[in-house]
Amino acid sequence: MPAKPWASAAWKKQREKLLENAKCAWCGSAENLIIHHTHKTRNAKKSIERPIIKDLIREKVDSGEVDNTKTILIFRCPECGSSQEVKGRVTTTCKNCRTKVILNQVEKREATKPDYYLGRDGYKQFIKQYSLEIKARVEAKSGMSVNEPDYIDLECDTIVLCNRCHFALHNGMHLCPACKQRYTKYSLCYSCLPEEEKRKIHERGLYIREIEEEDLEADRWFAEFESASPERREEMLREEDENYSKEIEMMDY
Ligand SMILES: [Zn+2]
Ligand SMILES: [Zn+2]
Ligand SMILES: [Zn+2]
Ligand SMILES: [Zn+2]
Repeated sequence: MPAKPWASAAWKKQREKLLENAKCAWCGSAENLIIHHTHKTRNAKKSIERPIIKDLIREKVDSGEVDNTKTILIFRCPECGSSQEVKGRVTTTCKNCRTKVILNQVEKREATKPDYYLGRDGYKQFIKQYSLEIKARVEAKSGMSVNEPDYIDLECDTIVLCNRCHFALHNGMHLCPACKQRYTKYSLCYSCLPEEEKRKIHERGLYIREIEEEDLEADRWFAEFESASPERREEMLREEDENYSKEIEMMDY
């Protein structure tokens, strides 16, 4: 989205409004609050966009407008005479007559076939090249514009969290609902698990180490974060945000 002065001014104002008398949505702390983007709207748009892009790739590759083919091997079935793509290494089964064919005993030739997998870079390039077509189709299908400025969605697309909880979120954790003190990736933190549950986990040996190590790792993170200088804190959060965006991107494509 291109930066517009009015947009950033509006954003600033909304930001102030969101933080005014705010408390962390998780732990209730009123200190060190930040606004975390959930990208709900963006993700909703993505889920409409994705199948549209997939169809468009098929169309463009089939029509030859996008040149993306792969070489395959074709064999001729000695039983029924049909030609098909070789699937196995040594033998293959004719789809037509179900005859099992030994590949080095039959006629083979190379052929090209449309390839709808463009690769990560190719996909990005495709989106760029056909952005107008994609936009028009998304709008036609959903009745919404893809380029609505983000600030409009600021209220429903964000949550206010304290630094600590924000940090946990970016590490795939949430506040333990029982003690509201420790963070965990599971329903409860290990300390809050009922004895019965702990015993079951002990019986499964490996799992317990996993939980404890993950909880410990998070504790180390928080300890480092809390004793860090303001500059280092910002840096740590930025690193986390980058990791988080990368993860989101990976999920997108
Ligand atoms: Zn919090
Ligand atoms: Zn965040
Ligand atoms: Zn056959
Ligand atoms: Zn707990």
